[in-house]
This record gives sequence, structure tokens and C-alpha cells, in this order.
Amino acid sequence: MNRERFDAWLRNIYDTQDVEISCTECFDLVSRFVELETSGRDAAAELPQLKQHLEQCRACLDEYEMLRALARFENEGGTPSLDDLRRSIR
Ligand SMILES: [Zn+2]
Repeated sequence: MNRERFDAWLRNIYDTQDVEISCTECFDLVSRFVELETSGRDAAAELPQLKQHLEQCRACLDEYEMLRALARFENEGGTPSLDDLRRSIR
């Protein structure tokens, strides 16, 4: 491998790591993600790094599922009870 190709390869690896986000960033983005989803957009395509984080992080996945359940109830115009929320998350 020559020097130029090695540098390109190295940049690739670091670029990939840059794409990964922290839980804090995930927390900031997750409501946007749910918004996109509930408006019928392809949220995973618009925020792929968030989608990736959700697949790896149980805590953020819980957060996401809770927000998504809330958004669904808001769309239906009702106020969810705790039992409703629990059911929709299971
Ligand atoms: Zn996380």
C-alpha cells in the first residue's frame, strides 16, 4: 500500500467514527427523528447516524420508543394513560 492510499484508508476509518454519535447527541436528535417518522418521512435515511446509535444503545432506544408512543397518541388526539403507554411500548 502506498502512502497516498494509506492516508485515504485512514481518513475513511476516522470519517466512519465521526459519524457515530454520543447519547447526548442522540437525545437531541431523537425527537426530530420521531417527528420525521410521524410525518411519513424516511427518518432512518435522513438521520442514519441516529438510527445506528439506536441499534447499539438500549437506553436511547427506550427513549425513542417512549417518544414515538407519545407522538402516536398525540396524532390520535388522545391523552395516553400510563397503561396505554406501557402497552404501546411492549
Ligand atoms: Zn445512547
